[in-house]
Amino acid sequence: MEYITLKCSHCEKKLLTYNPTSRKYKSPLKKCKKCGTEYLDPRCHEIAAEGIPADTFSIPSYLVLIAVGGLIIWRGLYLFSRCHLNTSDSLPWLMPTAFTIMGIVFALWGLIEIISIATGKKAEKFERLRQESEERLLDNSYARTLLNLGYCIPEKYI
Ligand SMILES: [Zn+2]
Repeated sequence: MEYITLKCSHCEKKLLTYNPTSRKYKSPLKKCKKCGTEYLDPRCHEIAAEGIPADTFSIPSYLVLIAVGGLIIWRGLYLFSRCHLNTSDSLPWLMPTAFTIMGIVFALWGLIEIISIATGKKAEKFERLRQESEERLLDNSYARTLLNLGYCIPEKYI
């Protein structure tokens, strides 16, 4: 996975290192701890401005996650079945255990997401996040600050 480092445009202080696929739903407005210059945290998104990503409530994408988890578990179990044959390895159980645990985590994650979509819990959570985002953007000076830093803000908030 590739990580990106963000530096302060004013004092060059290292602000954060992030994985570009990570997404958070909160205010992206932050301040450099050293010089106080405001900047946008690229991981953070205002739902009221950007909307919710299309795949958030997609059950098939989480079924894929469960399938991937299942394959990793299967691989882990396969390695378990082979590891006692290879006794020269000092930690023969390490790889199969790591694979199996990772597979279980993926499968459970997919399952929990599907349950929360099916029961409407996830929709409730995102509606709450959207309302919080809307409240922040209704503050005109906040919306303008984001706009000036290059964040795309719908006209109704400006
Ligand atoms: Zn700075």
